[in-house]
Amino acid sequence: MTKLQPRDRKVKILATTGPATADPEVLRALFLAGADAFRVNMSHGEHEVHAQTIANIRALEEEFHRPIAVLADLQGPKLRVGKFADGRATIPHGAEFTFDRDGTPGNAHRVELPHPEIFHVVEEGQRLLVNDGKIRLRVKTVSNGAIVCRAEVGGVISDRKGVNVPDAEIPIPALTEKDRKDLAFALDHGADWIGLSFVQRPEDLAEARKLMGGRGALCAKIEKPQAIRRLHEIIEQADGIMVARGDLGVELAPEEVPPLQKKIVNMTRLTGKPVIVATQMLESMIESPAPTRAEVSDVANAVYDGADVVMLSAETAAGSWPEEAVMMMDSIARQVEKDEGYKQRVRMLDTPPDATTADALAHACMTIADTVTINAITVFTSSGSSARRVARERPAVPMMVLTPSIEVGRRVALLWGAHSVATRDIGSFEEMIAKGKRMALRHGFAKGGSKLAMMAGVPFGQAGATNLVHIVTVQGDELDSYQGGEG
Ligand code: PGA
Ligand code: MN
Repeated sequence: MTKLQPRDRKVKILATTGPATADPEVLRALFLAGADAFRVNMSHGEHEVHAQTIANIRALEEEFHRPIAVLADLQGPKLRVGKFADGRATIPHGAEFTFDRDGTPGNAHRVELPHPEIFHVVEEGQRLLVNDGKIRLRVKTVSNGAIVCRAEVGGVISDRKGVNVPDAEIPIPALTEKDRKDLAFALDHGADWIGLSFVQRPEDLAEARKLMGGRGALCAKIEKPQAIRRLHEIIEQADGIMVARGDLGVELAPEEVPPLQKKIVNMTRLTGKPVIVATQMLESMIESPAPTRAEVSDVANAVYDGADVVMLSAETAAGSWPEEAVMMMDSIARQVEKDEGYKQRVRMLDTPPDATTADALAHACMTIADTVTINAITVFTSSGSSARRVARERPAVPMMVLTPSIEVGRRVALLWGAHSVATRDIGSFEEMIAKGKRMALRHGFAKGGSKLAMMAGVPFGQAGATNLVHIVTVQGDELDSYQGGEG
């Protein structure tokens, strides 16, 4: 076991894996630079490669004795064009361009659109957007076999580029055949979180949930206008939320995304579920070792919004500077969190506790941390629920989450301010105090004289029984014993 100082940061970093992280040494460097969790993007790559990536992540976990979350992100019903004779073609501005059902390679005038559903629902005057909205086409005529468009904005179109149809509701299932296979693969390989793309309705989550059979947690990606209309129900049904700004900014206007980001973050935070802000956060770092000022501000503002997680996509998956991107995100986040104004800002959202014992105590932990000098809040939890309720209060000190479940420990890696430790369950009050102190010392959250607030439930080992907060002081002579004892 390699010793590692706890992160000096509450917001979490989720780094996407890909060709750039295939070397386990690079993955290790990303973890050391600050990645708390990794996203395996099922839109790209073979199962074999993903299996190796997950094995590499688990090896890191072993080495550092630190639970790491794996989020397997399902592609979802992403619409794509077919292929081109030359791999690509250029559509001039104002030119006519046709999508058809003909499998022969495309050119500057036409290409296959291998999704029959679209041909039935698209209407004259609606938009088809290609390649993240870079190419904008307006529908002139539709027949069963062809959608004829005019290019309002032309550009280069290439093999398998994505298509968005923001004006029409596509009657397409939330999980494609590929998604079902990818989901089974991800769960069999122990993915902690499943990302569900292009969620349109709460029923989409129910469908995924049924297939998951109690394994893994479900993160709904908000990237469709239809999902915005049913946000409450979707957040209610999910375990976590991703503000998937890439597709969201194409399906809607880009200027609609910043207010929505704030709204989605706030709505999710009220529930205590983790919320991820994703896509193009340090986009220019795919090619450059330094980000733009605007990107730095964007990351900082997501942290000020109180998001649980900020995400890197191609910056780490396929970029030339993956480690630098994580280091940059880490320093931006730490700089924000050092700002005196940050603590007030993350609390600007009023999160009144529910009328439950657990919430009353979670709220008390936050107040205690504001009133007396404590080094950490130590939460004993078997389901992770108490940890979510404490994190929801955005307390001023870090939270150590002690759980007998490695799965819960990993899941919590996406929770604001949480440092999870998988450790054997406690059986008594004395054991709770001894273990809480020992773990705080071992993980660098306490030294002689430090105070800790411990939250747990008696009888121990029973989910949903949280009923005590106890404040302890770590004595100087307890320092010697921290190496001993089980984990
Ligand atoms: P994607 O999702 O990278 O899977 O498309 C994120 C987004 O759309 O922002
Ligand atoms: Mn997307």
